[in-house]
Amino acid sequence: MWNEAATHAFGVTLTPEQADSFDVYLRELADWNSHTNLTAITTPDEVRLRHFLDSLSVVQAVPMRPGLRVIDVGTGAGFPGLPLKIAYPGIHMTLVDATGKKVAFLSHVAQLLGISQGIECVHARAEEIGHVPEHRASYDVVLARAVARLPSLLEYLLPLAKVGGVCVAMKGKTAHEEAVDAKKALAVLGGKLGEIVEVALPGVDEAHYLVVIEKVKHTPNDYPRKPGTPTTKPII
Ligand code: SAH
Repeated sequence: MWNEAATHAFGVTLTPEQADSFDVYLRELADWNSHTNLTAITTPDEVRLRHFLDSLSVVQAVPMRPGLRVIDVGTGAGFPGLPLKIAYPGIHMTLVDATGKKVAFLSHVAQLLGISQGIECVHARAEEIGHVPEHRASYDVVLARAVARLPSLLEYLLPLAKVGGVCVAMKGKTAHEEAVDAKKALAVLGGKLGEIVEVALPGVDEAHYLVVIEKVKHTPNDYPRKPGTPTTKPII
């Protein structure tokens, strides 16, 4: 059972109701994926391992507690944010993506699961919400998986974190070299490199890392720059 692996690997325990919620999420993902391109991973066991379990691995870097304000930037079909919200219903989770049909999927699943408290599905670009007062500098934890290389990604993430909060970038084998490349972006945007936590998923050979960035200073108001600029002209 994948949720026993979650307990064993990350200390995450799910109630039978939470396990049912993951089954519904899996079913809806398969259903929508047949007409809307949400994920390349389609077999149920792979979804449980590479999406659900991998999402929950975030707790190895940042423990979740009730009241925590968390945002997942470029969440796609909800990873890692929605599995975390299902497993830790007391957190406040904002899921943001630039693609409308993905946000429509997330709103649909949240409604189906009866999650109405402490969840927000936002159709926007990170470069836009980084300047919206209710989002800017208002999160304890800012997450992203598979969105952009770290120097660009930090321009999406750091403006959203509170000073004293953290960003967690879920990365593959390039984690350490991306962290080196991100030195200037860290200095400009008010971040400090924290731990790089290695994650082992059962039966998965490739290396996974959680790159933790502490927000230590206010991000200058010029950042994020206009949509597209963080990736076309990264701070390097
Ligand atoms: N985090 C998910 C999806 C990764 S695919 C996962 O790991 O499975 C990257 C996603 O980021 C896409 O859904 C894309 O629409 C979104 N994205 C890319 N750039 C973005 C930006 N600047 N602002 C918001 N979303 C963005």
